[in-house]
Amino acid sequence: MVKTHQFDAIIVGAGGAGLMAALYASKGGANVAVVSKLYPTRSHTGTAQGGIGAALGNLEEDNPLWHAYDTVKGGDYLADQNAAKVLAEEAIDAVIELEHMGLPFDRTPEGKISQRRFGGHTSNFGDKPVRRACHAADRTGHMILQTLYQQCIKHHVKFFDEYQVVDAIMNNGACAGVVAMQLGTGELTVFHGKATLFATGGWGKIWSVTSNAHSLTGDGAAVVYRRGVPMQDMEFFQFHPTGIYKLGILITEGVRGEGGVLINGKGERFMEKYAPRIKDLASRDVVSRAIYMEISSGNGAGKNKDYVYLDVTPKTVNRYFAEAGDERRITAEDVEKKLPDILEFCRVYLGVDPVKDPMPIQPTAHYAMGGIPTNVNAEAVLDEHWTVIPGLYAAGEVACVSCHGANRLGTNSLVDLVVFGRRGGKNIADYVKRADFVPLPPAPEREIEAELNRIRNGKGKTRPHELRSAMQKEMMQNVGVFREEKGLNGALEVVRELRERFSKDLTIDDKGSTFNTDLMEAWELGCLLDLAEATALAALKRTESRGAHSREDYKERDDANWMVHSLVTRHGSELSPSTAPALTINVNKKVDMSLAEVDPRFAPKVRTY
Ligand SMILES: Cc1cc2nc3c(=O)[nH]c(=O)nc-3n(C[C@H](O)[C@H](O)[C@H](O)COP(=O)(O)OP(=O)(O)OC[C@H]3O[C@@H](n4cnc5c(N)ncnc54)[C@H](O)[C@@H]3O)c2cc1C
Repeated sequence: MVKTHQFDAIIVGAGGAGLMAALYASKGGANVAVVSKLYPTRSHTGTAQGGIGAALGNLEEDNPLWHAYDTVKGGDYLADQNAAKVLAEEAIDAVIELEHMGLPFDRTPEGKISQRRFGGHTSNFGDKPVRRACHAADRTGHMILQTLYQQCIKHHVKFFDEYQVVDAIMNNGACAGVVAMQLGTGELTVFHGKATLFATGGWGKIWSVTSNAHSLTGDGAAVVYRRGVPMQDMEFFQFHPTGIYKLGILITEGVRGEGGVLINGKGERFMEKYAPRIKDLASRDVVSRAIYMEISSGNGAGKNKDYVYLDVTPKTVNRYFAEAGDERRITAEDVEKKLPDILEFCRVYLGVDPVKDPMPIQPTAHYAMGGIPTNVNAEAVLDEHWTVIPGLYAAGEVACVSCHGANRLGTNSLVDLVVFGRRGGKNIADYVKRADFVPLPPAPEREIEAELNRIRNGKGKTRPHELRSAMQKEMMQNVGVFREEKGLNGALEVVRELRERFSKDLTIDDKGSTFNTDLMEAWELGCLLDLAEATALAALKRTESRGAHSREDYKERDDANWMVHSLVTRHGSELSPSTAPALTINVNKKVDMSLAEVDPRFAPKVRTY
């Protein structure tokens, strides 16, 4: 009999979304456990640099409706407009609440929260860039995480750090909790809860060049997917335009917000061609494609002409400010003060000093728009009829509300965490008052225990890193910024073959139980392979280009046929990850309310910037 803990609410993940949900569930009277594979303040939220968007209007006029409009437009009109509206409206008091909790935002001279520009954020329905991103230097996420963690401790949330969730316990279509491995001992533990909220973040590790931390392997999405929960909009994975060349480490869009410009190998500011009005601050999908187009037309920099530059040197920035009649000017001290971490990354990893020289950059796999389908209350839903899965919730990057549609705007993820994390927490607090525990099925740990033993004792010839590199290379090449049918079919075949080897021919070195990272990384690879397959399949089926999904063989957006979300579902009762279950893409999940009916300015248009 494995150790079993019982709590009203189990929150899986201690990033911004998990902590906000835990805080609110606890404030609402629930008895809450947070289960996290990382120590909470090591979560990826802590690396978020640029800012959190909210139409506070501290420096110039702003309006939540404009924020909602930008979110819908940036998402290439696939966003559920009710969710985008909730995001924009509730951002305002969520940010003020963070301030009241003690978050040290940068300030204006009058003492208000300072705001900066970010891609795709405009005033008056696309008129001109607006300062909407609230920031604490370039460490905004770090500050959010620290602030929320302190608040959770204060509100008696119980933390199970370094417990890795490896299975979701479903009983009769309802969620009864999770099975986790205590990493320090290798012991399996059951967490039995009335409500379980997944906030496990993204899965950028599917690709070889990514801004994501090593831990972002999609565990939460994969475990519920294997238990029959569909994955929504997996084809939409955002490539951030400015990753450090080859390393993928993110250079925040805040650099362009401060006036930084993109320059090709010929010294030209090329975004003028692609987005004549807002240039370097167009939305990320547009800028990433522009960079690839510059590179493929021979305008890249360096020996292989395979990167471009991001230039934030005062000399260049001030020249463009002057040319544009913009009265702003920056000095080396401003850059040092506003972007300290970025400067350090570049000096340490590249030997480039961004105050004096431009930084070599390339697009980097960054953010999952897709994931576990939920409604605006963070309840997970099963199908196009919005059928709620009792006891199962999701928030943050692992969830697909979908407020970001086909492409997320910068600063909107941090908003998503606090807005929908808070909604999730509040709803859970209500739910656990009226709900009973779903009974645990007999020996809920049995299946996953067998799978972990299979991996541990595998006598094959293939090591996990070989499969991981092959997957990452294939996904980068054929399921990256540009896609087409042949490459996608090829990628699907490669991923399936890799998964076959994963289930038949694996071997690892460490057979022990204490901090067996060898075992857990192999298990995580299984999650990545499952999600890579779903991503490639969804990308193959969507025969149009929209947001982050750009098909070379279907270049146009096709609103008549594809103004719908995709769901990929794993069928069959065979749940062992060692078999290859059928996948189908089958449902058109419609938006449940459209602001287009209320405001004609929200109706789909061809995007111009
Ligand atoms: C470098 C970088 C910069 C960014 N900058 C910005 C920005 O400026 N503005 C913005 O809006 N967005 C930004 N983003 C995006 C944003 O930071 C993320 O989308 C967001 O932080 C995700 O938060 P989360 O709470 O969903 O998950 P995360 O913060 O990723 O946390 C995931 C949690 O889940 C836990 N976990 C995962 N798997 C398991 C498991 N199997 N068992 C138990 N626990 C598990 C982890 O321990 C962790 O606590 C950035 C992202 C990156 C990578």
